[in-house]
Amino acid sequence: MIYMDNAATTMTKKEVVDEMLKYFYILYGNPSSVYEFAGESRNAIENARKVLAGTINATPDEIYFTSGGTESDNWALRSVAKTCKNKGKHIITSKIEHSAILNTAKNLEDLGYEISYIDVDEYGMIKLQQLKDMIRSDTILISVMAANNEVGTIEPIHEIGKIAKDNDIIFHTDAVQSYGHIPMDVKKDNIDLLSVSAHKFNGPKGIGFLYINKRLDMVPLIFGGGQEKGLRAGTYNVPSIVGMAKAAQISLNNQTVKIMELKNKRNYFIKRVLKEIPYSRLNGTLLNRLPGNINFAFQFVSASELLAMLDINGVCASSASACQSESGKPSHVLKAMGLSEELSGSSVRFSISDDTTYDDINYVADKLKELIAEMRKDNEIIRYYNGNNK
Ligand code: PLP
Repeated sequence: MIYMDNAATTMTKKEVVDEMLKYFYILYGNPSSVYEFAGESRNAIENARKVLAGTINATPDEIYFTSGGTESDNWALRSVAKTCKNKGKHIITSKIEHSAILNTAKNLEDLGYEISYIDVDEYGMIKLQQLKDMIRSDTILISVMAANNEVGTIEPIHEIGKIAKDNDIIFHTDAVQSYGHIPMDVKKDNIDLLSVSAHKFNGPKGIGFLYINKRLDMVPLIFGGGQEKGLRAGTYNVPSIVGMAKAAQISLNNQTVKIMELKNKRNYFIKRVLKEIPYSRLNGTLLNRLPGNINFAFQFVSASELLAMLDINGVCASSASACQSESGKPSHVLKAMGLSEELSGSSVRFSISDDTTYDDINYVADKLKELIAEMRKDNEIIRYYNGNNK
């Protein structure tokens, strides 16, 4: 099998699992208990908190453990909506957010909040001037993702943070796709809230964190016991918290070199495909793109058929996001970028990792060439063009 769907989820690294194991069957105490045995678990989660804080230039008391990206996104939006409702009920987000944000925003709309959705350009980059123009005296929150999950576009987070700060508006970023893959710095970029999910950077599934700038007042999303200063109840998932911190450490170790190597592989793949497969194009931009993301449109080809054929040939890739492919809906991201429904239905995402080899890439590029040629062989438009070009 060749796995090229790391934006959907990643393999949990062996070192991560090894680190987690002892917290299942040796140090299994509940960190909230008072005896010494539980202290070991408490130390483990506090150490993880310290490690994670260090990776984004935050302090440990600003890290709150959650069940992952969806919960962190929900919590950020809902809490700000509640605590700031006396200031206003206007929230700004973008048209290309993950459904964890878009559906939370939709729900807030039902509750009487007003949401403005920023457009993106053809590369998936949000329009900064439009963001500035949307700001009103009752705007309480700007939520824009750090990088897009479908086309990998890295958004101008630094500029957005500055705009938010200049206008005294809280800034949340969904960093689920960027954290662990490119450097993130909450101080430098004036980020107040930042969502992270461990399974996107070789950590376990069902764990993540929300960074909360200590100047913010928050209300809980989940009610229960007093964990996380009474803001996020529920018994600590100690093994997963420890695993997430280990995965973060591994992903940040030697990150500059890893980013360069991954970019080289990505660009090699893109070059081969664009050169060797006619009527193919790259969705998104080469300049501000996540190192492991590749998204092609293959004109006159159905993405779902191509994906099924790739699957038969042992290749895992996807169209739109993993969540959206379940609903079978066309990609809202590609639509916002101006792609026709036809091109959107011909688009396939490959997300590679440092485990992907050049042999893997060559195999997939060769397969794509072969499968696409086969799928197009009876296409009349292509036959017409080929005939005219002779
Ligand atoms: N936000 C983005 C940008 C994502 O890509 C994802 C997952 O695909 C999520 C949020 C949801 O994260 P989780 O799977 O941890 O709930």
